[in-house]
Amino acid sequence: MIEIGCYDDAVLDLSIPDDGQQYFCINGTKTHFRVIEFASKDGANRVKVSVKLIRLLEHMRVLTGLPIHINSGYRTLEHNTKVGGSPKSQHLTGKAADVVIGAGNNVGHALKAAILAESLGATGIGLYNTFTHIDVRDNKSFWDNTGKGLLQNGSFHY
Ligand SMILES: [Zn+2]
Repeated sequence: MIEIGCYDDAVLDLSIPDDGQQYFCINGTKTHFRVIEFASKDGANRVKVSVKLIRLLEHMRVLTGLPIHINSGYRTLEHNTKVGGSPKSQHLTGKAADVVIGAGNNVGHALKAAILAESLGATGIGLYNTFTHIDVRDNKSFWDNTGKGLLQNGSFHY
């Protein structure tokens, strides 16, 4: 297991071949997330993942009781370019995940995930038809799939 209870705001840099199957754990308690779930989809050997992001996702997992599928976690620069990600994407830093909660595959589910994520401290939220982008950037930014900003008076508004 990869213990993260000792870190507050770190971004871990881990080896997929060595640590991919390991679960993150917080103060000895196993989370629901394994290292490989955050791996760049181009098969890169290293993965970056923010401790704050893991804590946030684990909170969401425990509160909802529903599995959280990570469509996209860390992305290498090459992979991010290939999938059309923003050059400043938080996926490049290990601070972002595109998630689907439970069997959610519609806007209603994505919206619920967004609202829950904000209440638990997510600072970047993107609302898409079939998934929700969540990140832990420094300055808040909320948007939808049309690029429309969803930040009003400092909080998520839809
Ligand atoms: Zn994303």
